Amino acid sequence: MIPGSFSYHRPSSVQEAVGLLAKLGDDGRALAGGHSLIPMMKLRLAEPAHLVDLAGIADLKGIRSDGNDIVIGAMTTQHDVIGSDHLGAKIPLLRETSLQIADPQVRYVGTLGGNVANGDPGNDMPAVMLCLGATYHVTGKGGERRVPAREFYQGAYFTALEAGDVLTAVRIPVPAAGHGAAYEKLKRKIGDYATAAAAVVLTMSGGKVATCSIGLTNVAETPLWAEEASKILTGSALDAATVKKAVAAAEAITAPASDARGPAHYRTKMAGVMLTRALARAKAKARG
Ligand SMILES: Cc1cc2nc3c(=O)[nH]c(=O)nc-3n(C[C@H](O)[C@H](O)[C@H](O)COP(=O)(O)OP(=O)(O)OC[C@H]3O[C@@H](n4cnc5c(N)ncnc54)[C@H](O)[C@@H]3O)c2cc1C
Repeated sequence: MIPGSFSYHRPSSVQEAVGLLAKLGDDGRALAGGHSLIPMMKLRLAEPAHLVDLAGIADLKGIRSDGNDIVIGAMTTQHDVIGSDHLGAKIPLLRETSLQIADPQVRYVGTLGGNVANGDPGNDMPAVMLCLGATYHVTGKGGERRVPAREFYQGAYFTALEAGDVLTAVRIPVPAAGHGAAYEKLKRKIGDYATAAAAVVLTMSGGKVATCSIGLTNVAETPLWAEEASKILTGSALDAATVKKAVAAAEAITAPASDARGPAHYRTKMAGVMLTRALARAKAKARG
């Protein structure tokens, strides 16, 4: 289908974009890579009268270190994330996850900021951001604020972003050297959204789990941070009985929809299978 008609704006600074979006209110929408928004517009599920394209704002692009954090500009594409050796060395989970998003064509234009701002529970990066303890930089009418990813997602397509807000960057603390991480995603075919997926970051010490964090994708209206499951695993040697208990705790917080990817019960169980696999792979990669 063809989208409804809209006016196109191309600001060259964050301030200009925020000013435009604040003035336009519900009639305006930020445009990043367009690979979630344009399909929605073609289906007439979104009909913004104005699109504010963020592509002309140089400040929104790039990957830099800031102390022990890595800060990634919102308009950095998934392709850029995959191509960054710096990120690959410091937070390899980001490259691993990006490679499981859609296909190369989508990744060339789809942005990290768009993926995390979209609020679609099917997006892969949000659960990874919960797992990594990321913080989002948001600029709005009242200036800049920082929102922890773990507090950002409030419902399907409903986030902490308010009218006029632009998500400018994602700040991620670099996990400890020697950590292990994995993203396991079950999909029906290449390029599909997850039936269920699990992200794990852990550190090991003396053969036992010293720290552990788990995120789950597409098994609720929002991405999930499986805090209780992580607590169960901490201090264990990831033996089968403890993993089973943690998987049960993770499954218990899921509430997936029954849809073309399978009935709710199946998707919950697949989240457990993905978590089991991610834990095993993360452990194999971890030193200590
Ligand atoms: C065929 C296909 C398969 C796909 N498969 C997957 C998949 O497996 N996994 C996955 O995670 N994604 C998948 N996607 C989605 C893709 O990753 C999108 O690129 C991503 O979800 C949105 O990023 P974008 O830059 O395209 O944002 P856009 O589509 O431009 O924007 C998405 C939403 O976020 C808002 N927004 C964007 N940037 C900002 C910002 N900086 N500040 C405030 N609001 C902002 C927009 O207003 C809009 O509401 C797929 C897309 C397609 C077309």
